Amino acid sequence: MSFAAQTKKELTLIADNECCRRSELEAMIALNGGVTTSEAKRQALVVETENVATARRIYTHLKELFQIHPEVLVRKKMRLKKNNVYAVWVPTQAEWILSELGWVGLDVGEKSNVRMAGDNGVPVTKLPVIGGRKYKPCCKRSFLRGAFLAAGSVNDPGGTSYHLEISAGTLERAEQLLSLMNSYGLHAKVIQRKRDHVVYLKEGEKIVEFLNIIGAHQALLKFEDVRILKGMRNQVNRLVNCETANLNKTIGAAVRQLEVIKFIDDRFGIANLPGHLREVAELRLRYPEVNLQELTARMAHKVSKSGLNHRFRKLEEIARKLRNG
Ligand SMILES: [Zn+2]
Repeated sequence: MSFAAQTKKELTLIADNECCRRSELEAMIALNGGVTTSEAKRQALVVETENVATARRIYTHLKELFQIHPEVLVRKKMRLKKNNVYAVWVPTQAEWILSELGWVGLDVGEKSNVRMAGDNGVPVTKLPVIGGRKYKPCCKRSFLRGAFLAAGSVNDPGGTSYHLEISAGTLERAEQLLSLMNSYGLHAKVIQRKRDHVVYLKEGEKIVEFLNIIGAHQALLKFEDVRILKGMRNQVNRLVNCETANLNKTIGAAVRQLEVIKFIDDRFGIANLPGHLREVAELRLRYPEVNLQELTARMAHKVSKSGLNHRFRKLEEIARKLRNG
């Protein structure tokens, strides 16, 4: 099971107050559902999902909150992975349930916002954001949980990048989610993907906070475990890379210096060099593996690192002149 599916399964096991269950159901209907008018003007409420745990949750909420028995239909998706799509249908009393959830005086016949539910699903009218809606803190969390259950996904934390998103559909809905999420300081952003507006989080830390807000505590712990391990591994890798880079630099420089010195010795004899150059040449031959800093400590008179560097450049110059005859 993917990390996202595990997270959803965990979320559907949360026992909630009635107020919160209503908010969660509102979100699931808002994100994945709508009203269909296809059957001879009879308005049915339909909510579709590919996640079986989410479908069960929608069914249970409708049954417990409104004492109704929705129908559940299953079909295979035509495109892509041919996943199952579960549709929870409320063929009667749709208007009453929607008004109970806050969609009062809704003109569900309005065709401006028709979307297909799924790729071969029925045409449904997406429901608008309920104007002036204020959520209690407990219900705000539940609304976000419902939105994630219905239209959310999250990358496995072990993957290459952290990513959590909720596919909001309309811009209006995306802006609502954005403002709810950012009331917790989550730094959520919106991006448009074709006709869809997607609210997303990119920072590992904020994804962990979001999982905490919606009550996915098992998922949160797993995410943190993987994230901490990954962080440690990255730090170790960084240290190793740094050390290797420095070591290579030291060795590379020393090897070049030794080549120069040996060349001069062959052609000219280091004994014939001026005293201060002869000293560094002999020191380098005696201590081929140490870096410049360590070499300065072995000089008879105090010389700075740059002073020493300067002498090596002089030696290189001499070698070049010898080479060019
Ligand atoms: Zn509540």
